[in-house]
Amino acid sequence: MPPRRRRRPLPPLPVLAPGQLLDWTDRAHWSDRAAPCRYCERLTHLRDEQGQPAHKACAEEDGARRGVQAARAYRSGRTQA
Ligand SMILES: [Zn+2]
Repeated sequence: MPPRRRRRPLPPLPVLAPGQLLDWTDRAHWSDRAAPCRYCERLTHLRDEQGQPAHKACAEEDGARRGVQAARAYRSGRTQA
């Protein structure tokens, strides 16, 4: 019987730095009308990719959190269809 192959250890999860993840320099991310951020409810003129009011830092923090959750789910085999 051939020797059992060992799995290589997975690389560590990336460290995501809020403030450096999204590029919102396009004017589509700006509105003249301030509205409550979808995450923290403080007023903002910024808009996310879906046009919803959001601070860039809040959106980056949410994206980082979702990325870590997805990576953990993938590693544990608990991904959703
Ligand atoms: Zn916010």
